[in-house]
Amino acid sequence: DQDLALLDPEVAERIDAELRRQQDGLEMIASENHTARAVMQAQGSVLTNKYAEGYPGRRYYGGCEHVDVIEQLAVDRVKDLFGAAFANVQPHSGAQANAAVMHALLTPGDTVLGLDLAHGGHLTHGMKLNFSGRLYQVVPYGVDEATCTVDMDEVARLAREHRPRLIVAGWSAYPRQLDFAAFRRIADEVGAWLMVDMAHFAGLVAAGLHPSPVPHAHVVTSTTHKTLAGPRGGIILSNEAEVAKKINSAVFPGQQGGPLEHVIAGKAVAFGIAAGEEFRDRQRRTLEGARLLAERLLAPDVAEAGISVVSGGTDVHLVLVDLRDSELDGKQAEDLLARVDITVNRNAVPFDPRPPMVTSGLRIGTPALATRGFGTEAFTEVADIIAETLVAGARAGAGGVDPAVLAALESRVRALASAHPLYPG
Ligand code: PLP
Repeated sequence: DQDLALLDPEVAERIDAELRRQQDGLEMIASENHTARAVMQAQGSVLTNKYAEGYPGRRYYGGCEHVDVIEQLAVDRVKDLFGAAFANVQPHSGAQANAAVMHALLTPGDTVLGLDLAHGGHLTHGMKLNFSGRLYQVVPYGVDEATCTVDMDEVARLAREHRPRLIVAGWSAYPRQLDFAAFRRIADEVGAWLMVDMAHFAGLVAAGLHPSPVPHAHVVTSTTHKTLAGPRGGIILSNEAEVAKKINSAVFPGQQGGPLEHVIAGKAVAFGIAAGEEFRDRQRRTLEGARLLAERLLAPDVAEAGISVVSGGTDVHLVLVDLRDSELDGKQAEDLLARVDITVNRNAVPFDPRPPMVTSGLRIGTPALATRGFGTEAFTEVADIIAETLVAGARAGAGGVDPAVLAALESRVRALASAHPLYPG
């Protein structure tokens, strides 16, 4: 019964190295966060040993008296947090949650209307290699070319033409809010179910800083590890009794076997944290950080380098940088920011002329930095560092930036990181 460092130094050393990477650099991947130490303690507990197929009070295994209490806590807390009558906290991930909803509400061959991956949708909303694209007839809707926002008249037109059984609203890379009430009107008109996948903005909803989809959608799915800042996992919410029953049996036994009770314990802890005032303040700073970044990237020095911001700003926790008119492509921009210890991901922008492995965009998010305590001043500084790095890259060519310039930018990043310690001690 040995300590990890003694038993398996190869793995232990890499975990330590990853901790230092997170501590020393700035994590700005929009789908990531730094979860609470308490969440990791729950996840690293003996609950990982326990089989608990079924639901609290109705298990197929003995010895579930403690995990029953924990899972019920998670269910009750997330129902309170989002004002939902029903919750299933067992999906192993966001993709599993979406698969379970489709399994519950659709028959293979049914038509699904979802946001195009190339315009900010998720793989599980109908990408052709994903289960969603293979099992269902997918009709994608996109964004308007001029505004880069979803055009509800176009969604309505496609819905009337294709009569989907399911309409999916939600996104992985979209800097604006969706009109959930309008989506529901369209779903009702054509007799479709409405699923909102709030994986990205769930934390903002929990804090009351983004409209909630829960009153509008038949079913809402989410991950628990993005803005919500919990362990990696998924949840499904609904206010409709008919949907709830179908969902429970679609998750188990439909899609999964034993639930991950150690992760569910982490979810319970995270939902408890998300109900508090500190979490609300963190989400407020998350939004402020994204707004400050968008403003900085719309300044004249950045515009002169051919760089702009998709949709001209942001209402959420991320900014989509548009590099279509820049010499710098998404891959080069991602690599350049990595050299100053800022981690982001390249991302296709709508109507992107470059190939998917290169792209003409960056998706930059603020949740992890807000968790680290960043406020107005620190977000202003990081926005400036990003702007200067990208402008330098666009001017000199990605490989041609003066190493001394990059070293100076990197030391500003290190200063921000050490002023906002992560997992100290
Ligand atoms: N839904 C949306 C909107 C997402 O952005 C993601 C992940 O990025 C998922 C679902 C899938 O979540 P997971 O990676 O946990 O399967």
